[in-house]
Amino acid sequence: MTSKVIVNSLTELEQTQDFIRRHIGPSQSQTQAMLKDIGAESVDALIDEIVPSDIRLADLPNIQESKTEVQALADLKAVASLNKVNDTYIGLGYYGTLTPNVILRNVLENPGWYTAYTPYQPEIAQGRLESLLNYQQMCLDLTGLDLASASLLDEGTAAAEAMALAKRVSKNKKSNLFFISADVYPQTIDLVKQRAEMFDFDIIVAPADDVVNHDVFGALLQYPSASGEVRDISALIAKVQERKGIVAVAADIMSLVLLKAPGELGADAVIGSSQRFGVPMGYGGPHAAFFTTSDKYKRSLPGRIIGVSKDTRGNNALRMAMQTREQHIRREKANSNICTAQVLLANMAAFYAVYHGPQGLKTIANRIHRFADILSLGTAAKGLTAVHANYFDTLTFNLSDGEFNKEDIVTRALAAGVNFRTDVAGQISISLDETTTRAKIAGLFDILLGEGHGLNVSELDEQIVTSGHSSIPASLVRESAILTHPVFNSYHSETEMLRYIKKLENKDLALNHSMISLGSCTMKLNATAQMIPVSWPEFANMHPFAPMNQAQGYKKMIDELADWLVELTGYDKMSMQPNSGAQGEYAGLIAIHKYHESRGDSHRNICLIPASAHGTNPASAMMVGMKVVVVACDKEGNVDMADLKAKAEELADNLSCIMITYPSTHGVYETTIAEICNIVHEHGGQVYLDGANMNAQVGLTSPGFIGADVSHLNLHKTFAIPHGGGGPGMGPIGVKAHLAPFLPDHALINVDEATAGNGAVSAAPYGSAGILCISYLYCAMLGKQGVTDATKYAITNANYLATKLGQHYPLLYTGKNGRVAHECIIDLRPIKAESGITEVDIAKRLIDYGFHAPTMSFPVAGTFMIEPTESESKVELDRFIEAMVCIRDEVRKVVSGEWTLENNPLHNAPHTLADITDTWDRGYTVAEAVFPVPAAAANKFWPTVNRIDDVYGDRNLICSCPPVETYID
Ligand SMILES: *Cc1c(COP(=O)(O)O)cnc(C)c1O
Repeated sequence: MTSKVIVNSLTELEQTQDFIRRHIGPSQSQTQAMLKDIGAESVDALIDEIVPSDIRLADLPNIQESKTEVQALADLKAVASLNKVNDTYIGLGYYGTLTPNVILRNVLENPGWYTAYTPYQPEIAQGRLESLLNYQQMCLDLTGLDLASASLLDEGTAAAEAMALAKRVSKNKKSNLFFISADVYPQTIDLVKQRAEMFDFDIIVAPADDVVNHDVFGALLQYPSASGEVRDISALIAKVQERKGIVAVAADIMSLVLLKAPGELGADAVIGSSQRFGVPMGYGGPHAAFFTTSDKYKRSLPGRIIGVSKDTRGNNALRMAMQTREQHIRREKANSNICTAQVLLANMAAFYAVYHGPQGLKTIANRIHRFADILSLGTAAKGLTAVHANYFDTLTFNLSDGEFNKEDIVTRALAAGVNFRTDVAGQISISLDETTTRAKIAGLFDILLGEGHGLNVSELDEQIVTSGHSSIPASLVRESAILTHPVFNSYHSETEMLRYIKKLENKDLALNHSMISLGSCTMKLNATAQMIPVSWPEFANMHPFAPMNQAQGYKKMIDELADWLVELTGYDKMSMQPNSGAQGEYAGLIAIHKYHESRGDSHRNICLIPASAHGTNPASAMMVGMKVVVVACDKEGNVDMADLKAKAEELADNLSCIMITYPSTHGVYETTIAEICNIVHEHGGQVYLDGANMNAQVGLTSPGFIGADVSHLNLHKTFAIPHGGGGPGMGPIGVKAHLAPFLPDHALINVDEATAGNGAVSAAPYGSAGILCISYLYCAMLGKQGVTDATKYAITNANYLATKLGQHYPLLYTGKNGRVAHECIIDLRPIKAESGITEVDIAKRLIDYGFHAPTMSFPVAGTFMIEPTESESKVELDRFIEAMVCIRDEVRKVVSGEWTLENNPLHNAPHTLADITDTWDRGYTVAEAVFPVPAAAANKFWPTVNRIDDVYGDRNLICSCPPVETYID
């Protein structure tokens, strides 16, 4: 007897491995149900209604087909193996480091940390806020100043920010000159020079001692110097300050463990990279830069600062302080354009300090320094004397003469799999690090001196111990204590550390708990397979200035990703250097500026920006010396075409560009976008299309096709790099051919023949290259069909939310047929007018339901901008809708008087365990407070603090760890 068996084809069976259906949340049946509610026949029919036909692409993008996770990882592994990871002594701000495995797995590789958002909802972000406060404290202790930011993008940009701060605060208002010591890292000099050119500052690069001969508003010195010298710079600092100049010191964080703090030498600001505190080199990043300054310059500090405030129970609680300095509030008057920074990496560095503690760090730094002493003593004994007698970890040798020939030594080094710094003629430099061992030092002797030198590392060590040899001048030996706070002295066993990391993780709501529907931020799936290669040694341990022939795996991966992005954006060329969206804007505007200049149009300096733009747009325009002119939006949220035409015409002579986001931040596809591009072009301007909303374009349309000239992509939005709690990100830019000659390049690694000599916007040639594998795998695993489906389902999900929520809250803007793009704005102002309940109350009440609030009050005050992304299933969308509908009902109870305005679950949200274990005297029940719906009870998220008082925190600014006394009960 034959039974009825349905035999699928092998092709059908193989589809079960398809990644697309894992990435896209809604199943087929869920999609059908959503379409029914939306009132559309099919996903394609819905898309046809929404995306204007004149900008629709005819075909799927020409990238490859999707691959399975297994295949994509195997293929990328083969590419990675083209990298030759040498033993690296290049230094210049990037060093070998041993990431403690407890931090590697439980922070860097843990979605509880890497999928969190920037802590704009501090009540559910106390874990990463505490860690960032630790980071600030660590930076303060090591640099000897009293105010720190919570990370900047890299050392080079931090130096440029220090120059900008110097200009803001210097009392030497007459001077337009900034001094850069010639022994600052070459990539920093290059980057700061370009920044100065854009600001119209004058620059002089000269030996440090020369600074006393100039009347400057600021100066940048490096400590220890690029060639490794440790010298007392306090007299130079004092001289500059006598003339009211500001001195920034770029410092090596590991050396500061042993050296006198730059703050104690008089520095006004100290910047540097915290990479070597346990963060892999990753071919240039991501890493956190640090920035500290004096309290009196607090209003001028760039980037985010974490501060201590109080919650409604009077308990200490952390939040981002003094946000009024930042671009999202101050726009073109902001201190900088920084938005996405390097939170995940700052956390790693802070945990490294917590794990090792002051003693552990001293041991690590002393060990590095001892190896440098051994190397220096040994080579000197054989006639090869290092240039500087005082150093921390870096020795420079002159190799121009006779016996020690640079070419021979470098050849021997490469043959032994070793990289030295070689970019200075007649010299090599060797920077040692935490990974240096006795065996490696012995190997270095062989390379430098040839075999048979007879040196013995242990004997040299004994000599040093018995002779009391010292290579740090007595005046520069650190005497002040570091890391005295309990947090740095409590978690040195792995068990303790593991639990501390977990304790903080538990305080934070991330994507592994529930959806985070942040409009404009595209918090989509960060697939685990995409994250795995980040920690492969072939990618993690590559120095950004390694010779190109050793980085062929990176090159292949980056080139291929760039090709895909060219196809998806419709541009001709990508620059993979900018390491955030805002840096991309800066790079793109520089390209526009230089293009105009090349045509004799350097006077074109007006930048049109619609009122709805993100704050980074005007802040970036200001950084390239452009004048911002705001274009109005009409009441449908579209660019006011009459206003645009009038302004473009009136300002035509000086029009540089427009910066426009598409679809607009109002969540609609403006039908006039092609016309907008035309108008600006007709009046001699260029079109910068902010690509933050590319998740509504990929595969359906593209900026290049629409008619724009340049865009950044936020790879940490559209292309699956996780937000990391506020960074890292990548902001590569695409340009049309005419702008390609003006893309950034790099002083040490030429990224393209055509752009050789162009200045840089990031410290490393490919920015935070170490996370590009995430976007690479995103494209590889989704393929042409998947990336396009992602866009379609992002739009479908948004329209489902708009349809359902629209029944309870007014939608602020919709397109001509009542549809939205990939995000929608609901207007909460009528609720406020009717009930007194604010958007903040609703945001905090969502926490009780287990959700992170959507984007609040951007781009319109008193609204939520909701972006579900394609990765959320209908089940999760329905949970969110349920929460929002219940909240709407709660508002009604306030309106009806059932609850008073002060005693209701919205006003008192979020509710904590402390609330419900205290005497309960509220006008609503405990269950209503904390388990308002069964879904919230089934997956309860407990905020660890009550609502935080922002005003108190800014009035009583504390940005360091609470003093030791507060820990003693
Ligand atoms: C996120 C965003 C930016 C800034 O990008 P970062 O990577 O955070 O610097 C710019 N414009 C818009 C519309 C954005 O949403």
